[in-house]
Amino acid sequence: MSKLNNKVALVTGGSRGIGAGIAKRLAADGANIAITYTKGAEAAQAVVKEIESTGRKAIAIQADAADAAAVKAAVEKTVATLGRLDVLVNNAGTAIPKTFEETTLEEMDRVIAINVRGVFVATQAALKHMKEGGRIITIGSCVGERMMTPGLVSYSATKGAVKMFTQGLSREVGGRGITVNNVQPGPIDTDLNPAAGDWAEPQVAATALKRYGHVDEVSALVSFVASPEASYITGANLTVDGGTNA
Ligand code: NDP
Repeated sequence: MSKLNNKVALVTGGSRGIGAGIAKRLAADGANIAITYTKGAEAAQAVVKEIESTGRKAIAIQADAADAAAVKAAVEKTVATLGRLDVLVNNAGTAIPKTFEETTLEEMDRVIAINVRGVFVATQAALKHMKEGGRIITIGSCVGERMMTPGLVSYSATKGAVKMFTQGLSREVGGRGITVNNVQPGPIDTDLNPAAGDWAEPQVAATALKRYGHVDEVSALVSFVASPEASYITGANLTVDGGTNA
């Protein structure tokens, strides 16, 4: 029996990149999966099809993390369609790299709305359905703890916010047997942060392993945190950053 058999996981921003990797890995561990996306309906359907081909159920729901009503509706649809909710992975996130002084108020609002407010809204809605053994996992970033480059001030501030969100919430729901953890990737090769991009070189230089990470290296940690084996880990900030923050 796989470790997540009979469980349901909702992964926000699961059509590409780290979120798609997490969705497929949790399905391989036995879970039925809901993913959200904004624009990439085709990519989302491809993830659904790949999961369904393994015998698990999967649905894709269009829900911008900045739209509270859409996020709440996505949680409700997950439960209505798949019957329950055991694992929420708050993965949807964005960065608008530029210096702080050049960043507009609209850009700041957008980053906060997706990376912080969206996490709050999804988690509150999910907790209404979560039972003993539930898992809230947020994808923060190693820059939520330490900063090595200019140009990511708003982004790193939001990732610092979800770090403390995680620690605070763990104190409120621990009594119900629900764990709350923050997985903090370093440079992972995705559309958001391509290993072939202009910003790649200094990021590689900052790692101890001298390379980018792969989405599978993040999903492996998320898979463990989602599993029953991780039952005594909560309020933790777990880096998977190739030693960037070492
Ligand atoms: P990508 O941009 O490669 O993928 C983002 C995914 O989220 C897509 O499925 C996208 O779907 C979806 N998405 C984007 N905006 C929204 C939104 N407003 N609401 C709902 N879904 C949305 O990003 P990554 O995979 O690189 O990043 C995933 C998470 O990991 C983010 O929280 C990011 O901050 C974090 N992270 C990434 C690192 C990296 O190096 N890649 C390092 C540290 C943290 P669609 O195409 O439909 O918009």
